Amino acid sequence: MFSLYRKYLEVIDAELTMDFVSQQPFIKCKKGCSLCCEEGDYPLSRLEMEYLMAGLTALDTEIQKKIRISIKTLLAEKQKTDGRFMHKCPFLSDSKSCYLYERRGLICRTFGLASFEKSENGLFVKLPECVKAGLNYSEVFEGKEVEIAKFKKFGVEAPVKHSLNLNYYEKNLPSEFSGLEFGEIRPLLDWFIQKV
Ligand code: SF4
Repeated sequence: MFSLYRKYLEVIDAELTMDFVSQQPFIKCKKGCSLCCEEGDYPLSRLEMEYLMAGLTALDTEIQKKIRISIKTLLAEKQKTDGRFMHKCPFLSDSKSCYLYERRGLICRTFGLASFEKSENGLFVKLPECVKAGLNYSEVFEGKEVEIAKFKKFGVEAPVKHSLNLNYYEKNLPSEFSGLEFGEIRPLLDWFIQKV
């Protein structure tokens, strides 16, 4: 069922590996760092979610139970808040690793990279959220958004040439994956409303 999507992920992973290598001097990502998974709303398409859920049902039953309890708790908290609800990902283990690492969504795969973004004022460079925590790019920048001229001054290799939004990956599929349908995009928790 997921064979085409798995092939697609292989292609994307190969691309992203090159992107991480090209930005290596400013990347602090390493095993045990889970900052990207500690606070977010993790937008995922239907396809990504179905792939994750297929992985969830294959996990040890105790772990599944723990994850489902965590999702219920988060959903209850979310109901009390207005607007965007930022939270720890329920798939993050106590040892700070992802229970579903091989199945993680595109947003997770792109965490940590700098990319070009478009705004009303033209192109700028968007830095990863962890710059604010003294991690990726923090030795050269403070803010999350940087003018291109300033970015070039530091001699950094080119950031990813497009936005790292899921929309980009959905709309710019290589021709061999043109049959792939991502479907609707929702924050991770919203996929569990009335489902847990
Ligand atoms: S799915 Fe895994 S990699 Fe993605 S945010 Fe959750 S714990 Fe992190």
